[in-house]
Amino acid sequence: MTRAARKDKNKQFNFILIDKNPLHIWKPMLHTFAAGSQFPSEQSIPLLTQAKRYGYLYQPGEVNDINPLEKKITLAPYRDAQNTEILPERTLHYDYLVVAIGSKSNDFNTKGVKEFSYTIDDLPAAMRFNREFTDSIIQSAILQKKHHLVIVGAGAAGVELSGEIINQILTASNYSNDNFMDYIDVTIIQADDRVVPTFKDSISEAVKHAMEKIGIRIRLSTRVSEVTKDSVILENGETLKADQVVWTAGVKAPEVLSKIKDLALSPTSQLIVNEHFQAIDDPSIFAIGDCAYVQDSPLSTTAQAASQQAIYLGNHFFKMMIQQTNIPSFKYVDKGSLVSIGTYASFGMFGRNTIFRGLEFRGLSAKIAHISLYRQHQMRLLGFFKGLSAWISDRFRKWSR
Ligand SMILES: Cc1cc2nc3c(=O)[nH]c(=O)nc-3n(C[C@H](O)[C@H](O)[C@H](O)COP(=O)(O)OP(=O)(O)OC[C@H]3O[C@@H](n4cnc5c(N)ncnc54)[C@H](O)[C@@H]3O)c2cc1C
Repeated sequence: MTRAARKDKNKQFNFILIDKNPLHIWKPMLHTFAAGSQFPSEQSIPLLTQAKRYGYLYQPGEVNDINPLEKKITLAPYRDAQNTEILPERTLHYDYLVVAIGSKSNDFNTKGVKEFSYTIDDLPAAMRFNREFTDSIIQSAILQKKHHLVIVGAGAAGVELSGEIINQILTASNYSNDNFMDYIDVTIIQADDRVVPTFKDSISEAVKHAMEKIGIRIRLSTRVSEVTKDSVILENGETLKADQVVWTAGVKAPEVLSKIKDLALSPTSQLIVNEHFQAIDDPSIFAIGDCAYVQDSPLSTTAQAASQQAIYLGNHFFKMMIQQTNIPSFKYVDKGSLVSIGTYASFGMFGRNTIFRGLEFRGLSAKIAHISLYRQHQMRLLGFFKGLSAWISDRFRKWSR
């Protein structure tokens, strides 16, 4: 939105950004909020400010219906923290609609997941886990009992969450007479036979080794058949004690998309789009990021893919609307992947569109690359100098804590 609105120098369009969360946070940071190592108040960008700065409007609200025939969307009633309705249901008309509502974790209809597990799909969910996890650890330390945390899914989100949690527990122990590690037991369950299976074998192996070294139990080739109030039941019949379960296995598009009758959807309810991100059944609707399925060349649901798609659409949207010809097709550039386990270890792998294709890198270089991904995102939104000053002030804040 920021990029597209900036390109519209003569203000020919009315750009409106709708988001259910008034603060923009970078989703790959959610595990740090969930673990408590970063604070959303320090790492978020208020959408109202961003909108004002770049000349578009922000409307808070959750889209709960899209009607392509009448070209309108419906926003659910907006409620405050006490669940009091402060805005009624609203309908907005559009000429062009860009859907960029991301994804949520996929429970594959596993019994008990909705009722008894946590997700870290968005900020409220991550903060709910953080509050209840912190309380449980304090309780366990005082009552001298173990808190059993089970994370289901050893993709980037699950692996990074487990590492960040151990990091926080050790940091808390440094400021206390208690060793909080005595009161926590972290198990990660993975259906695949490798952790972070999108990485090459050697990195998966190194990540597994680094996780085990900091005390995380790993169960590979293991499927969960049910989650209960205090346990996880595995497909082989075994029951694991679980005081808290975090579900990070698989993703699907948010439910609102599966309600649209007139547009083609992928099996995980993503909108099927062409190489310009236009819905194949309706050229006035675009979709990018995790909720889009590019026909013929689907991409993985990563921040890298979402960001390249947003840059493409931001650059070409204006041309598409005015000229409607000679628009280049989107070409994904796979620059590589990164994964970090708290402050203990970082791993990276160059992507297939780089000269070092497939080459892996570890340690400080991977850590710097990981940090710079977020900082680049911040600079794209805030501009170079504001982004840089946010980075510097973060360093000072961390130092003064
Ligand atoms: C814990 C975690 C760690 C991750 N780590 C990595 C990583 O290391 N590397 C990587 O490449 N990817 C990672 N990912 C995946 C990455 O975050 C996503 O692929 C990326 O954020 C997708 O971007 P997006 O713009 O499509 O969606 P999002 O970033 O999810 O943005 C969607 C926006 O839409 C809003 N929204 C959703 N539904 C509605 C609605 N109905 N109405 C109004 N607004 C709505 C949300 O509030 C949100 O602001 C991670 C994801 C998680 C959860």
